Amino acid sequence: MKQTNISVFVPHNGCPHRCTFCDQRSISGVPKAPTADEVRHTLGEQLPHLRERGMTAEIAFFGGSFTGIDRSYMISLLDAAGEFTSSAPDVYTGVRCSTRPDFINGEILDILREYGMTAIELGAQSMNARVLEMNERGHSPEDVENAARLIKARGFSLGLQMMTGLYGDTPEYCTDTARRFIELKADTVRIYPTVILEGTKLGELYKSGEYRTFTFDETIDLCAELLTMFGEAGIPVIRMGLHASKEVEAKMLGGVYHPALREIAESRIFYNDMLREMRALGGNRFIVRTDKANISKIMGQKKENKRKLEELGFTFRIEEEKGTRLKIYAL
Ligand code: SF4
Repeated sequence: MKQTNISVFVPHNGCPHRCTFCDQRSISGVPKAPTADEVRHTLGEQLPHLRERGMTAEIAFFGGSFTGIDRSYMISLLDAAGEFTSSAPDVYTGVRCSTRPDFINGEILDILREYGMTAIELGAQSMNARVLEMNERGHSPEDVENAARLIKARGFSLGLQMMTGLYGDTPEYCTDTARRFIELKADTVRIYPTVILEGTKLGELYKSGEYRTFTFDETIDLCAELLTMFGEAGIPVIRMGLHASKEVEAKMLGGVYHPALREIAESRIFYNDMLREMRALGGNRFIVRTDKANISKIMGQKKENKRKLEELGFTFRIEEEKGTRLKIYAL
């Protein structure tokens, strides 16, 4: 059965923080907060469609500060979700939310459990204290660790979200962050390369020349490495890059935003593996065996991998082999 999320965006109006990348403080960046009845309406509307398509869904309260919003409002939203997880458990299988690490404590977790929350995602962004400080997150790496441990100890699924290329960030800090996420035994991870938006502090720093983020190519190399690290640790990366949005496109000043970001990073992993194996095997003509599903990633976007390997003197032809990721033979 296919699983999806019905996402409800809950903005944190009146948020006391000033994260450098966030545009929720600019008037146009604050979407209207949904009422509990609007949530009921959305869930009710989606129910027959999900049933028809044989899908299950989690009700996902996103926005980054779910447990920091007004308590009675938060409970009204959870009540609305709870009505659907109890009346239609064959379709609505759980409730998840994203929040800040410093908005988690034992009391909040008790409330979330009572209302059927199954998964909690923390916007950690970085596990480097200086990067958190430079980006005015208002929490420390220790806050992430404490919240993550509390969440795991109470049996919730733990999601950790990181950004790459923030102000003061380096690729090494990002791989360190990934290592810490693995140590914390995250159940899922999301990776968001920084997108610099108009109306944010990062936007000002970027325009003044004080800040540059990673290039597209640096980001792809890094994302390939992060995917490999989490893959080896058995932790699913459930999202890479911001969802396509006209609003982001209109407000974007710089940074990395591409609808096929993950596909390109996965393709870079194939390129790195092929180059390493071809060098180890010696020679310059090869047969590459792989499942049909991998062929486009092996070739790369606009055949980039093939072209780059040819520039290094390596040519290959592909033979399909069901279930095989990558086998290379010298000719
Ligand atoms: S990203 Fe930072 S500034 Fe924006 S709403 Fe969340 S906590 Fe507040």
